[in-house]
Amino acid sequence: RAAAPRDSWSSESSGSSGSWDPLYRVVLLGDPGVGKTSLVNLFAGLQERDLLEQHGEAAYKRTLSVDGEETTLLVMDTWEPEHRRRSQCLQVGNAYVIVYSITDRGSFESASELRIQLRRARQAEDIPIILVGNKTDLVRCREVSVEEGRACAVVFDCKFIETSAALQHNVAELFEGVVRQIRLRRGGKES
Ligand code: GDP
Repeated sequence: RAAAPRDSWSSESSGSSGSWDPLYRVVLLGDPGVGKTSLVNLFAGLQERDLLEQHGEAAYKRTLSVDGEETTLLVMDTWEPEHRRRSQCLQVGNAYVIVYSITDRGSFESASELRIQLRRARQAEDIPIILVGNKTDLVRCREVSVEEGRACAVVFDCKFIETSAALQHNVAELFEGVVRQIRLRRGGKES
């Protein structure tokens, strides 16, 4: 299945040249304070920042070259647990990054809950999901082991990576991983 953009943003996806330049929407989910904004800022800051105000919310667009091919991601940092449009957040993504903090077991449990909500909202779809354990620099405050994170990802059938936004560790790898997961599901027809 091609993860085609939808709705009002579909105009973003085709250049005036008429060539098909797919734009994939990546939504970050996770408890407040786990580092979503920090991760998105790193993603956006590596190149000229392209801040799009959509319905008053922030999204950052960037074209990544991964394995010799370019892919444009629109990364949305719009998730708030009590957000009135949270069901919309669960509908619009072509891929999801579920973030917890390795120093906060509650956020790890929330990540599992979010995975379940996502599965419920997008039942028949095979959407790329990456589980992210952030704040690995806070070694002495760790509450969730790497093994637990990895095991959770196996149970929930998603990819797993640990990052440190503070040290900029594994952040580029995270978004490259998102691109690869999206490509895997295109059925190879564009690769
Ligand atoms: P959000 O609410 O999920 O968007 O989280 P923020 O990105 O606003 O981060 C919450 C707090 O955690 C801020 O004070 C960040 O500076 C801090 N933070 C984010 N990522 C890391 C990290 O990898 N390591 C450390 N030590 N602090 C982090």
